[in-house]
Amino acid sequence: MYTPPKPPRVRIAPSPTGNPHVGTAYIALFNRALARRFEGQFILRIEDTDQARSRPEYEQMILESLRWLGLDWDEGPDVGGPHAPYRQSERKEIYGEYAHKLLEAGHAYKCFCSEERLEALRARQKAEKLAYGYDKHCLHLDAKEVKRLEESGKPYVIRFNMPAEGETVFADYLRGEISVPNKDTDDKVLLKSDGMPTYHLANVVDDHVMEVTHVIRAEEWIASMPLHWRMYEAFQWEKPLFCHMPLLRNENGSKISKRKNPVSLTFYRRIGVLPEALLNFLGLQGYSLGEDREFFSHNEFVESFDLERVKTTGPVFDLEKLKHIAGQHLRALSDAERKQRVQDYVGEWLDDLGALASERMDLLSDFARVNWFYAAWEVDLTKESFAPATKRLEPEQVQKAFKRLRDELLNLQPHEWTAPRLEEIGEAILADYEWTKKKDKTAFLQAIRVALSGRTFTPPIWDTLAVMERYTVQHRLDSAILELGKR
Ligand code: GLU
Ligand code: ZN
Repeated sequence: MYTPPKPPRVRIAPSPTGNPHVGTAYIALFNRALARRFEGQFILRIEDTDQARSRPEYEQMILESLRWLGLDWDEGPDVGGPHAPYRQSERKEIYGEYAHKLLEAGHAYKCFCSEERLEALRARQKAEKLAYGYDKHCLHLDAKEVKRLEESGKPYVIRFNMPAEGETVFADYLRGEISVPNKDTDDKVLLKSDGMPTYHLANVVDDHVMEVTHVIRAEEWIASMPLHWRMYEAFQWEKPLFCHMPLLRNENGSKISKRKNPVSLTFYRRIGVLPEALLNFLGLQGYSLGEDREFFSHNEFVESFDLERVKTTGPVFDLEKLKHIAGQHLRALSDAERKQRVQDYVGEWLDDLGALASERMDLLSDFARVNWFYAAWEVDLTKESFAPATKRLEPEQVQKAFKRLRDELLNLQPHEWTAPRLEEIGEAILADYEWTKKKDKTAFLQAIRVALSGRTFTPPIWDTLAVMERYTVQHRLDSAILELGKR
């Protein structure tokens, strides 16, 4: 049984650069369980230092999805707390100060290298089949030269000075000591030339100043550990306990990714997985309550939570299993509760559909028949379903056009998910494939309709798409692409 020495302060630190990811909920679940079990605090910190990719809409979606799951937080951008602000873009000065402390102590240095020099360096390393990495060129500039460059107004970044030889040994709670040869690391940028911190600097500084005791995060961040570990030492700060959770994986062992699985929390919410079922399912990833127990409530999970039970191997993100668990949770509700949940769900869904909900309806009983496809997990499709379209258009061409449509849809920002913008994308594809004759156009739109709904009539297609959840659309297009490829 793992018992923390003092009430834990833990955090999740999502970057608002895309739809809220199931991995964020997974990591939140474990962090929060430790905090709740041992009467500590769970912090939500928004890591939005990548200004080009961060968006307030995504931040809102993260907050909403976590609230939907009931994973509330004690400190965060919306509720404040003793270490506010909790959005890194609002903490810029703090990081600059700390970067300069490292400079003064000789653990970091100014690098004036131009983009051209760095590119040439990368090209050379590539040609010589060497690992990529900064070559410490500017570490060796003498003080006079640094002064001259600075006074000439040349922009610079601040890099951390990693030892070139020897190794860095760090500790991970689940894996014990790990040793990495320093020649496999390089001098990462801490502060960019515009004064913005990189992930490494902002993350380490905030964990320290926010008094985080346990850093529980995804396995992919282990690669940053030699740097983070040495930063703690350079600052002479007490280190938190690091615990890197196993990655969520497909049955074939590959990391789950948006190209292959529905990974967005909004997808699971829209198809109507009960939030407690999703928590139960995520709680089984790399963890067990003992005795092969697969069905448990969130309270049972929290009350018995033990970090020692996390295993680094074996999580499988099996959607059939999720569906099974969802069914168990639904059946475990009382009749009154179930009724309430269904009503809430349908109500929410109706709100999202707006006026479209009543299109092609005459009777109230048409509601389910007409609208079920918006939110269904999947629709039944075979290659034959596309016959109305593929009588006119080559199936391979339709398949290729679907791939393009899918990719372009995935790249849209949330505010671009509107009927006119979607139609624009559709029109561009029609033009590129020279499907400009009325019959070709109709056939392609028909194919999209079939892919989304399994049938040939829906409300106007772009309006229909606009009210659908993005990853539901992706999932449908992926299934269609698969079917169209069959012989
Ligand atoms: N901003 C990082 C992320 O999006 C945080 C990683 C960490 O928890 O240190 O996953
Ligand atoms: Zn340099």
